Order: sequence, then structure tokens, then C-alpha cells
Amino acid sequence: MNKQDKVAELCLQKLRIVDLNPSQQLPLHLTSSFSFDDIETCTAVFAGAADGYVYSRYRNPTVDAVAKRIAELEGVGFAGATAAIMTSSGMAAIYVLLTSLLPSGGTIVTQSDLYGGTTELLFKVVKKTGINIVLKDFTDMEDVSKEIRGAKQPMVVYLETPTNPCLNCIDIAAVAAIAKSKDVPVIVDNTFATPYLQRPLTLGAQFVIHSTTKYLNGHGTGIAGVIVGSDMSVMQQTVWPVLKLTGAICNPFDAWLVGNGIRTLPLRMDRHCENALGLSKYLQNHPGVEKVYYPGLPDHPTHDVADRQMFGFGGMLSFVVPGGKEGAFKVMNKLRIASIAPTLGDVDTLILHPATSSHLNVQPEIRAQFGIVDGMIRVSVGIEPMTSILDDFAFALE
Ligand SMILES: *Cc1c(COP(=O)(O)O)cnc(C)c1O
Repeated sequence: MNKQDKVAELCLQKLRIVDLNPSQQLPLHLTSSFSFDDIETCTAVFAGAADGYVYSRYRNPTVDAVAKRIAELEGVGFAGATAAIMTSSGMAAIYVLLTSLLPSGGTIVTQSDLYGGTTELLFKVVKKTGINIVLKDFTDMEDVSKEIRGAKQPMVVYLETPTNPCLNCIDIAAVAAIAKSKDVPVIVDNTFATPYLQRPLTLGAQFVIHSTTKYLNGHGTGIAGVIVGSDMSVMQQTVWPVLKLTGAICNPFDAWLVGNGIRTLPLRMDRHCENALGLSKYLQNHPGVEKVYYPGLPDHPTHDVADRQMFGFGGMLSFVVPGGKEGAFKVMNKLRIASIAPTLGDVDTLILHPATSSHLNVQPEIRAQFGIVDGMIRVSVGIEPMTSILDDFAFALE
């Protein structure tokens, strides 16, 4: 069986809670704590001498079952074991992982074009814990290599690929090879790609995080996140205690929704990819469009990297219309199928204006440096019939 079929098969498999699952579908354990038949068992579980559930801020069977499935998916094609911990959001996953891996005085080497919330989290919250943040251009490996080899330990490299909103792809294997020589862990935010299209652990990364709010849930029905790692002792003894103590846990219902969404992930992603490629080609040939960013287009600056490390080019694209902000707003207001919403990865097509939303707090010069102009519209291409999407954009661009 090829690896993509293996992922597809895993997604469809029913989620089970070992020893505790007589029902056809994953049970939803809406409970704060678990009771014990006798005090000896209770004591043993508390002491860690026996396996069992105690309190849902520590662990919950529904959440564990979904986390396990995500760990399995990120582990397809990876030689070692994988473990996952679900969190209350993608932001919580990033915060918990970074602050559990790094002490005060540690360094995060990352890119300037991160998800806007992540940049804000790093500079407004993580920095206050005494962690240094170094921004690098990850298309310049020479420079990244110099930084990793030269800077003081402890350090982590934090990547996001493809990036928002220009869909630049960073060569995970190349970065991981440099980091490995210095024992620096590499963390990849795999939200845009999902484990169906990209599996960073197989490319040499040590950790993956997701905002499962996006494609893994897939239907825009909840907020949650996940941390995946390949070192069991670090996951259990370093990461999990921070989650438990900060209480940034995923609630069982949001986990359950993610578990349900995952079952159709391969189907949805195939369709997202197909529709995004179709729409990007249409927009590229449209006289009313100045520029299209989609990694599946051969003239995208990082098409080769995407082709090498991804199993598909994803459902996200951005395009630029003439007339700056007014031009973009006019098109956005005329779209009917595509709705204006500040999220992505839902089954329906969503649009956003980066310059006045996700990148509002980014200085205009920096925005310009990354090509985020006022006429840019970002599209999270849905799974509607291709003709409906094309008709909608044709009408809006007229
Ligand atoms: C949405 C998103 C996040 C933050 O996730 P939340 O679930 O909203 O906390 C982080 N990274 C990327 C790439 C995202 O798209």
C-alpha cells in the first residue's frame, strides 16, 4: 500500500478507546474527573504506578483517542514512534511547546512571515519569559546555517510552510539537516498542509504543531490544536506537565469534532487541491488579475520545494487585483459563494484581505517586502463544484 493510501485508510478507521469502547462511534466523555472503586487504585493511579484517568485537565479518553490518531497520521512513513497532545487552540500548542522546550535565555530562530498571531505571541508573550527571538529568511540557507551554527544554545528552529498569504514553501529537510548538526530541534507548523499533504517528521523535524481549527476539523465548528513529537520522554515529561499546569487543554467536544473531521480529510484535501489548482489557473489567465500565488503553479517561486516535500499543493491561494484596497474590496463584496471570514480550511470557500486583517499590525514596509500589497485577496478554496467557484470569481472580476 502506498503512503497516501495508508493515511487515507487510517483517517477512515473508527476511533476507539481501548478497553472502554462498546459504542459504534467515539464516546464523548464529558466529565471533569473519574471515580475509583477503591482508594488503593486511586492512590496507584495518582502515583503513576497504574494506568488510568484521574482528572480531565490531565487526560481525557476522548481527547486521547483523537490525539493518538493525529500522531499515527504524522507518523506514516516515519521510522520511530510518535505521540500527540491536544490543546485548546493552535496558539496554545505553540505556546506550550516553545515554553516547555526552552528555558529563559533560550533562542527561537524563525521566519518573519509567520501566521500573524504567532508573531504576536512570540513578541508579546514568549519574549517576556526571557526567550530570544531571531528572525531569518529561510530561503537563504547560508544565512540560516550561520545563525544555527553560531548562536548560543539552547535553541529551537520554528518553521511554517507553506506560509500565509504568499504560500512560500521552506525546505524542511534542508533546515533539519543543518539543525541536526547542532542538536537543535525543528518544529513545523503543519496547519496549511495537514499530515495528508506533508509529514515533517519524515523530513527530519522533531515536532509538528497544528491549528486543528482549520483542515483537521474541516468544518469550522471548533477551536483546538495539537502538538506531535517523536521523543516520548520529552512529550511526557517536558511538554505534558506544562499543558497540565497551564490548563491549555482541549475540551472533549472540540476533540470529538476533530476526530469526526479527520475521517474525510483525504477526500476533502484531494478536492481542495484540485479546486485550488483550477482556480489559480483561471485567475492567472484572467486579464483583471495582476498576480497569483499558488505553489502548484510552475512559476511560483517555491514550486520546486513544494513539489519535493508535499503530496499535493494544498487549498490556499492568494491573488492581486489592480486598484489597491478599493479594487480588492470591490471584488470581495461581489463574491457570493466565497464568504468573507478570517479563518481557513473549511469545506466552503473563504476569502480574506490580508493587508487589513491578518497583517493589519504588520508595518507597511514589511508587508511590501513580503509582497502583501493592498490589492491582495487570500482564498481558502472550498470543496464546492469547480464550476460554481469559477462562475463566482468570473462574475466578481467582471
Ligand atoms: C489559525 C492558525 C494558527 C492559530 O490557531 P488557532 O487554532 O486559531 O489558535 C496557527 N498557525 C496557523 C498557520 C494558523 O493558520
